[in-house]
Amino acid sequence: MHNRSLRVGVLGGGQLGRMLGLAGIPLGVRFTFFDPTPDAPAAAVGDHIVADYEDTSALDTFCDSVDVVTYEFENVPVVAAEYVAARRPVWPPPRTLHVAQDRVHEKECFRALSIPTAPFAPVDTLDDLRRAVETLGAPGILKTRRLGYEGKGQARIASLDAVETAWNAIGGVPLVYEGFVSFTRELSVLAVRARDGTTAFYPLVENHHSEGILRLSIAPADGVDATMRACAEAYATRVLESLGYVGVLAIELFDTPNGLVANEMAPRVHNSGHWSIEGAETSQFENHVRAVCGLPLGATRPWGHAAMLNIIGKIPDAHDVLAMSHTHLHLYDKREAPRRKLGHVTVCADDAALVHDRVTALRRVLARDA
Ligand code: AMP
Repeated sequence: MHNRSLRVGVLGGGQLGRMLGLAGIPLGVRFTFFDPTPDAPAAAVGDHIVADYEDTSALDTFCDSVDVVTYEFENVPVVAAEYVAARRPVWPPPRTLHVAQDRVHEKECFRALSIPTAPFAPVDTLDDLRRAVETLGAPGILKTRRLGYEGKGQARIASLDAVETAWNAIGGVPLVYEGFVSFTRELSVLAVRARDGTTAFYPLVENHHSEGILRLSIAPADGVDATMRACAEAYATRVLESLGYVGVLAIELFDTPNGLVANEMAPRVHNSGHWSIEGAETSQFENHVRAVCGLPLGATRPWGHAAMLNIIGKIPDAHDVLAMSHTHLHLYDKREAPRRKLGHVTVCADDAALVHDRVTALRRVLARDA
Protein backbone atom coordinates (compact mmCIF):
# COMPACT_ATOMS: atom_id res chain seq x y z
CA MET A 1 0.00 0.00 0.00
CA HIS A 2 1.28 3.48 -0.81
CA ASN A 3 0.89 6.08 1.90
CA ARG A 4 0.60 9.62 0.59
CA SER A 5 3.10 12.08 2.13
CA LEU A 6 1.75 14.27 4.87
CA ARG A 7 1.46 17.81 3.53
CA VAL A 8 2.10 20.76 5.81
CA GLY A 9 0.74 24.17 4.85
CA VAL A 10 2.80 27.09 6.07
CA LEU A 11 1.42 30.63 6.29
CA GLY A 12 4.43 32.71 5.31
CA GLY A 13 7.26 31.76 2.98
CA GLY A 14 10.38 33.45 4.35
CA GLN A 15 13.65 31.87 5.41
CA LEU A 16 12.02 30.21 8.41
CA GLY A 17 9.62 28.43 6.05
CA ARG A 18 12.52 27.48 3.82
CA MET A 19 14.35 25.88 6.76
CA LEU A 20 11.16 24.12 7.90
CA GLY A 21 10.98 22.61 4.41
CA LEU A 22 14.64 21.60 4.43
CA ALA A 23 14.08 19.83 7.75
CA GLY A 24 10.74 18.22 6.93
CA ILE A 25 11.45 16.81 3.47
CA PRO A 26 13.75 14.03 4.80
CA LEU A 27 10.88 12.94 7.06
CA GLY A 28 8.73 12.44 3.96
CA VAL A 29 6.72 15.61 4.59
CA ARG A 30 5.76 17.94 1.74
CA PHE A 31 5.05 21.63 1.96
CA THR A 32 2.77 24.27 0.54
CA PHE A 33 3.64 27.86 1.42
CA PHE A 34 1.17 30.73 1.36
CA ASP A 35 2.90 34.06 0.89
CA PRO A 36 2.02 37.19 -1.09
CA THR A 37 5.67 37.68 -2.20
CA PRO A 38 6.35 36.02 -5.59
CA ASP A 39 10.03 35.31 -4.85
CA ALA A 40 9.53 33.99 -1.31
CA PRO A 41 12.64 32.07 -0.10
CA ALA A 42 10.56 29.00 0.84
CA ALA A 43 9.32 28.52 -2.74
CA ALA A 44 12.51 26.50 -3.37
CA VAL A 45 11.31 23.72 -1.05
CA GLY A 46 7.60 23.39 -1.74
CA ASP A 47 4.57 24.58 -3.65
CA HIS A 48 3.90 28.27 -3.31
CA ILE A 49 0.51 29.96 -3.40
CA VAL A 50 1.08 33.64 -4.14
CA ALA A 51 -1.88 35.54 -2.72
CA ASP A 52 -2.90 38.02 -0.07
CA TYR A 53 -3.94 36.71 3.34
CA GLU A 54 -7.39 38.25 2.77
CA ASP A 55 -7.95 36.16 -0.38
CA THR A 56 -10.36 33.50 0.88
CA SER A 57 -10.54 31.62 -2.40
CA ALA A 58 -6.73 31.24 -2.35
CA LEU A 59 -6.97 30.19 1.32
CA ASP A 60 -9.55 27.55 0.24
CA THR A 61 -7.13 26.21 -2.39
CA PHE A 62 -4.40 26.19 0.25
CA CYS A 63 -6.56 24.25 2.73
CA ASP A 64 -7.57 21.73 0.06
CA SER A 65 -3.92 20.93 -0.62
CA VAL A 66 -2.70 20.37 2.96
CA ASP A 67 -3.35 18.13 5.98
CA VAL A 68 -2.19 20.49 8.73
CA VAL A 69 -1.21 24.16 8.87
CA THR A 70 1.37 26.19 10.76
CA TYR A 71 2.98 29.63 10.37
CA GLU A 72 6.48 30.88 10.05
CA PHE A 73 5.87 34.50 11.01
CA GLU A 74 3.58 35.90 13.64
CA ASN A 75 2.04 38.78 11.74
CA VAL A 76 -0.28 36.58 9.71
CA PRO A 77 -3.70 38.26 10.16
CA VAL A 78 -5.57 36.39 12.91
CA VAL A 79 -8.69 36.29 10.70
CA ALA A 80 -6.75 34.40 8.01
CA ALA A 81 -5.48 31.89 10.59
CA GLU A 82 -9.00 31.49 11.97
CA TYR A 83 -10.43 31.02 8.47
CA VAL A 84 -7.90 28.24 7.89
CA ALA A 85 -8.50 26.76 11.36
CA ALA A 86 -12.18 26.26 10.51
CA ARG A 87 -11.03 23.94 7.70
CA ARG A 88 -7.77 22.32 8.81
CA PRO A 89 -5.92 21.80 12.11
CA VAL A 90 -3.71 24.85 12.74
CA TRP A 91 -0.76 24.66 15.16
CA PRO A 92 0.05 26.64 17.24
CA PRO A 93 -3.60 27.65 17.82
CA PRO A 94 -4.57 30.98 16.18
CA ARG A 95 -5.22 32.63 19.57
CA THR A 96 -1.48 32.41 20.07
CA LEU A 97 -1.17 34.99 17.28
CA HIS A 98 -3.64 37.23 19.07
CA VAL A 99 -1.33 37.18 22.11
CA ALA A 100 2.01 37.40 20.30
CA GLN A 101 1.01 40.15 17.84
CA ASP A 102 0.37 42.71 20.56
CA ARG A 103 2.98 43.59 23.18
CA VAL A 104 0.31 44.40 25.76
CA HIS A 105 -1.50 41.07 25.27
CA GLU A 106 1.85 39.35 25.45
CA LYS A 107 2.83 41.02 28.72
CA GLU A 108 -0.65 40.42 30.18
CA CYS A 109 -0.24 36.74 29.30
CA PHE A 110 3.16 36.62 31.05
CA ARG A 111 1.77 38.48 34.06
CA ALA A 112 -1.23 36.16 34.37
CA LEU A 113 1.22 33.25 34.47
CA SER A 114 3.39 34.94 37.15
CA ILE A 115 6.25 35.39 34.68
CA PRO A 116 8.13 38.63 35.45
CA THR A 117 8.09 41.35 32.77
CA ALA A 118 9.17 44.98 32.59
CA PRO A 119 6.59 47.23 34.28
CA PHE A 120 4.32 48.46 31.50
CA ALA A 121 1.31 50.58 30.67
CA PRO A 122 -0.74 50.82 27.46
CA VAL A 123 -0.52 54.28 25.86
CA ASP A 124 -3.03 55.74 23.40
CA THR A 125 -2.60 59.46 24.02
CA LEU A 126 0.09 61.92 25.03
CA ASP A 127 -1.62 62.20 28.44
CA ASP A 128 -1.48 58.40 28.87
CA LEU A 129 2.23 58.60 28.12
CA ARG A 130 2.84 61.35 30.68
CA ARG A 131 0.94 59.38 33.31
CA ALA A 132 2.82 56.18 32.42
CA VAL A 133 6.21 57.87 32.76
CA GLU A 134 5.16 59.50 36.05
CA THR A 135 3.93 56.18 37.43
CA LEU A 136 6.54 53.77 36.09
CA GLY A 137 9.43 56.23 36.06
CA ALA A 138 12.16 56.90 33.52
CA PRO A 139 14.21 55.73 31.75
CA GLY A 140 11.87 53.59 29.74
CA ILE A 141 11.01 52.59 26.21
CA LEU A 142 7.94 53.54 24.24
CA LYS A 143 7.04 50.85 21.71
CA THR A 144 4.32 50.28 19.16
CA ARG A 145 2.04 47.51 20.41
CA ARG A 146 1.90 45.82 17.02
CA LEU A 147 4.20 45.20 14.07
CA GLY A 148 7.33 46.37 15.85
CA TYR A 149 10.38 44.30 15.15
CA GLU A 150 14.13 44.62 15.15
CA GLY A 151 14.05 47.83 17.14
CA LYS A 152 11.59 49.53 14.75
CA GLY A 153 8.76 51.50 16.29
CA GLN A 154 10.62 52.24 19.51
CA ALA A 155 11.66 55.44 21.27
CA ARG A 156 13.73 55.67 24.42
CA ILE A 157 12.54 58.08 27.06
CA ALA A 158 15.25 59.30 29.44
CA SER A 159 13.06 61.64 31.49
CA LEU A 160 9.63 63.26 31.61
CA ASP A 161 11.00 66.07 29.40
CA ALA A 162 11.47 63.62 26.52
CA VAL A 163 7.83 62.53 26.44
CA GLU A 164 6.70 64.83 23.65
CA THR A 165 9.63 64.03 21.35
CA ALA A 166 8.97 60.30 21.74
CA TRP A 167 5.26 60.81 21.16
CA ASN A 168 5.94 62.83 18.00
CA ALA A 169 8.29 60.11 16.74
CA ILE A 170 5.93 57.14 16.99
CA GLY A 171 2.59 58.33 18.47
CA GLY A 172 -0.77 57.97 16.74
CA VAL A 173 -0.91 54.16 16.91
CA PRO A 174 -1.53 51.99 20.00
CA LEU A 175 1.62 52.03 22.12
CA VAL A 176 3.04 50.58 25.30
CA TYR A 177 5.46 52.25 27.69
CA GLU A 178 7.88 49.90 29.41
CA GLY A 179 10.12 50.64 32.35
CA PHE A 180 13.77 50.06 31.55
CA VAL A 181 15.05 46.66 32.67
CA SER A 182 18.63 46.73 33.79
CA PHE A 183 19.96 43.46 32.44
CA THR A 184 23.39 41.89 32.16
CA ARG A 185 22.65 40.02 28.95
CA GLU A 186 19.88 38.76 26.68
CA LEU A 187 18.95 35.09 26.57
CA SER A 188 16.30 33.04 24.87
CA VAL A 189 14.64 29.77 25.64
CA LEU A 190 13.28 27.60 22.86
CA ALA A 191 10.69 25.02 23.80
CA VAL A 192 8.70 22.57 21.74
CA ARG A 193 5.43 20.87 22.62
CA ALA A 194 4.04 17.86 20.81
CA ARG A 195 0.38 17.17 20.15
CA ASP A 196 0.32 14.68 23.05
CA GLY A 197 1.60 17.38 25.43
CA THR A 198 5.21 16.14 25.62
CA THR A 199 7.67 19.02 25.88
CA ALA A 200 11.37 19.43 25.19
CA PHE A 201 13.73 22.38 25.65
CA TYR A 202 16.87 23.54 23.96
CA PRO A 203 19.62 24.90 26.21
CA LEU A 204 19.42 28.63 26.91
CA VAL A 205 21.09 30.73 24.22
CA GLU A 206 22.88 34.07 24.69
CA ASN A 207 21.95 36.67 22.09
CA HIS A 208 23.80 39.78 20.97
CA HIS A 209 21.96 42.50 19.07
CA SER A 210 23.08 45.65 17.41
CA GLU A 211 20.80 48.33 15.98
CA GLY A 212 17.91 46.12 17.15
CA ILE A 213 18.96 43.20 14.93
CA LEU A 214 20.16 39.84 16.24
CA ARG A 215 23.79 39.44 15.19
CA LEU A 216 25.14 36.53 17.23
CA SER A 217 23.72 33.64 19.25
CA ILE A 218 25.89 31.48 21.47
CA ALA A 219 24.63 28.03 22.40
CA PRO A 220 24.60 26.89 25.08
CA ALA A 221 24.86 30.23 26.93
CA ASP A 222 27.75 30.29 29.38
CA GLY A 223 27.08 30.46 33.12
CA VAL A 224 23.56 29.05 33.19
CA ASP A 225 23.06 27.03 36.34
CA ALA A 226 20.36 24.42 36.93
CA THR A 227 18.16 26.94 38.77
CA MET A 228 18.18 29.44 35.91
CA ARG A 229 17.54 26.74 33.36
CA ALA A 230 14.67 25.30 35.41
CA CYS A 231 13.19 28.79 35.77
CA ALA A 232 13.27 29.45 32.00
CA GLU A 233 11.77 26.03 31.29
CA ALA A 234 9.05 26.56 33.88
CA TYR A 235 8.11 29.90 32.28
CA ALA A 236 8.01 28.32 28.82
CA THR A 237 5.93 25.41 30.12
CA ARG A 238 3.35 27.78 31.61
CA VAL A 239 2.98 29.59 28.28
CA LEU A 240 2.83 26.37 26.25
CA GLU A 241 0.20 24.82 28.50
CA SER A 242 -1.94 27.90 28.90
CA LEU A 243 -2.17 28.34 25.13
CA GLY A 244 -2.67 24.65 24.29
CA TYR A 245 0.44 25.14 22.19
CA VAL A 246 1.88 22.72 19.64
CA GLY A 247 5.20 23.47 17.93
CA VAL A 248 8.28 25.53 18.76
CA LEU A 249 7.94 28.61 20.96
CA ALA A 250 10.71 31.10 21.69
CA ILE A 251 10.77 33.44 24.68
CA GLU A 252 13.31 36.25 24.80
CA LEU A 253 14.56 36.88 28.31
CA PHE A 254 16.58 39.50 30.12
CA ASP A 255 19.10 38.11 32.60
CA THR A 256 18.97 40.44 35.61
CA PRO A 257 20.44 40.33 39.13
CA ASN A 258 16.89 39.60 40.34
CA GLY A 259 16.32 36.72 37.94
CA LEU A 260 14.93 36.24 34.46
CA VAL A 261 12.50 38.78 33.01
CA ALA A 262 10.48 37.93 29.90
CA ASN A 263 10.70 40.44 27.05
CA GLU A 264 8.67 38.89 24.26
CA MET A 265 7.62 35.60 22.72
CA ALA A 266 7.69 34.31 19.16
CA PRO A 267 5.09 31.64 18.36
CA ARG A 268 7.33 29.97 15.80
CA VAL A 269 10.83 28.80 15.10
CA HIS A 270 13.24 31.57 15.99
CA ASN A 271 16.48 33.09 14.74
CA SER A 272 18.18 32.28 18.05
CA GLY A 273 17.57 28.57 17.36
CA HIS A 274 19.25 28.35 13.95
CA TRP A 275 22.40 26.94 15.56
CA SER A 276 20.41 23.77 16.31
CA ILE A 277 20.51 22.69 12.62
CA GLU A 278 24.08 21.50 13.04
CA GLY A 279 24.49 21.99 16.79
CA ALA A 280 21.77 19.78 18.26
CA GLU A 281 20.55 16.23 17.78
CA THR A 282 17.26 17.48 16.34
CA SER A 283 16.96 20.99 14.98
CA GLN A 284 14.22 23.41 16.02
CA PHE A 285 12.88 23.15 12.46
CA GLU A 286 12.62 19.36 12.47
CA ASN A 287 11.04 19.41 15.92
CA HIS A 288 8.47 21.97 14.82
CA VAL A 289 7.55 19.80 11.83
CA ARG A 290 7.43 16.71 14.05
CA ALA A 291 5.17 18.50 16.54
CA VAL A 292 2.64 19.87 14.08
CA CYS A 293 2.51 16.52 12.22
CA GLY A 294 1.76 14.61 15.43
CA LEU A 295 5.11 12.81 15.36
CA PRO A 296 7.31 12.13 18.41
CA LEU A 297 9.74 14.91 19.31
CA GLY A 298 13.47 14.43 18.75
CA ALA A 299 16.21 14.93 21.32
CA THR A 300 17.20 18.58 21.80
CA ARG A 301 20.64 17.83 23.26
CA PRO A 302 23.49 19.95 21.83
CA TRP A 303 26.38 18.04 20.29
CA GLY A 304 28.87 20.48 21.80
CA HIS A 305 29.14 24.24 21.48
CA ALA A 306 27.90 26.38 18.63
CA ALA A 307 27.49 29.98 17.59
CA MET A 308 25.39 31.52 14.87
CA LEU A 309 26.23 34.75 13.07
CA ASN A 310 23.60 36.39 10.93
CA ILE A 311 24.52 37.61 7.46
CA ILE A 312 22.95 41.06 7.20
CA GLY A 313 22.76 43.46 4.27
CA LYS A 314 25.51 41.98 2.09
CA ILE A 315 26.11 38.40 0.93
CA PRO A 316 29.68 37.23 1.54
CA ASP A 317 31.74 35.22 -0.90
CA ALA A 318 30.64 31.61 -0.23
CA HIS A 319 34.15 30.40 -1.04
CA ASP A 320 35.68 32.47 1.77
CA VAL A 321 33.18 31.22 4.35
CA LEU A 322 33.32 27.57 3.30
CA ALA A 323 37.13 27.58 3.34
CA MET A 324 36.89 27.81 7.13
CA SER A 325 36.60 24.58 9.09
CA HIS A 326 33.49 23.57 11.06
CA THR A 327 31.53 26.33 9.40
CA HIS A 328 28.06 25.90 7.93
CA LEU A 329 26.68 28.44 5.49
CA HIS A 330 22.96 29.04 4.99
CA LEU A 331 21.85 31.52 2.36
CA TYR A 332 18.20 32.42 2.03
CA ASP A 333 18.15 33.45 -1.64
CA LYS A 334 17.11 36.99 -0.79
CA ARG A 335 18.15 40.20 -2.48
CA GLU A 336 20.67 42.35 -0.66
CA ALA A 337 19.24 45.32 1.22
CA PRO A 338 20.48 47.27 4.23
CA ARG A 339 19.53 45.57 7.54
CA ARG A 340 17.99 42.56 5.76
CA LYS A 341 18.77 39.07 7.08
CA LEU A 342 20.17 37.25 4.06
CA GLY A 343 21.58 34.14 5.67
CA HIS A 344 23.49 32.85 8.64
CA VAL A 345 26.62 30.92 9.45
CA THR A 346 26.93 28.40 12.25
CA VAL A 347 30.25 27.37 13.72
CA CYS A 348 30.60 24.35 15.96
CA ALA A 349 33.33 23.08 18.29
CA ASP A 350 33.83 20.85 21.29
CA ASP A 351 34.46 23.75 23.62
CA ALA A 352 33.26 27.32 24.02
CA ALA A 353 36.73 28.89 23.66
CA LEU A 354 37.21 27.32 20.23
CA VAL A 355 33.76 28.52 19.13
CA HIS A 356 34.77 32.01 20.24
CA ASP A 357 37.98 31.85 18.15
CA ARG A 358 36.07 30.61 15.13
CA VAL A 359 33.49 33.39 15.49
CA THR A 360 36.28 35.97 15.61
CA ALA A 361 37.83 34.56 12.43
CA LEU A 362 34.45 34.35 10.72
CA ARG A 363 33.61 37.94 11.63
CA ARG A 364 36.82 39.04 9.92
CA VAL A 365 35.79 37.20 6.75
CA LEU A 366 32.26 38.62 6.81
CA ALA A 367 33.60 42.14 7.43
CA ARG A 368 36.06 41.78 4.54
CA ASP A 369 33.25 40.82 2.19
CA ALA A 370 30.86 43.51 3.44
P1 AMP B 1 12.24 44.28 21.46
O1 AMP B 1 11.78 44.73 20.12
O2 AMP B 1 11.19 44.35 22.51
O3 AMP B 1 12.92 42.93 21.42
O4 AMP B 1 13.38 45.31 21.90
C1 AMP B 1 14.58 45.44 21.17
C2 AMP B 1 15.76 45.53 22.14
O5 AMP B 1 15.63 46.69 22.98
C3 AMP B 1 15.87 44.35 23.09
O6 AMP B 1 16.57 43.28 22.50
C4 AMP B 1 16.60 44.98 24.27
O7 AMP B 1 17.99 45.05 24.00
C5 AMP B 1 16.06 46.39 24.32
N1 AMP B 1 14.89 46.48 25.22
C6 AMP B 1 13.62 46.25 24.89
N2 AMP B 1 12.79 46.43 25.94
C7 AMP B 1 13.57 46.81 26.97
C8 AMP B 1 13.31 47.15 28.34
N3 AMP B 1 12.07 47.18 28.84
N4 AMP B 1 14.36 47.48 29.10
C9 AMP B 1 15.63 47.48 28.61
N5 AMP B 1 15.93 47.19 27.33
C10 AMP B 1 14.92 46.84 26.52
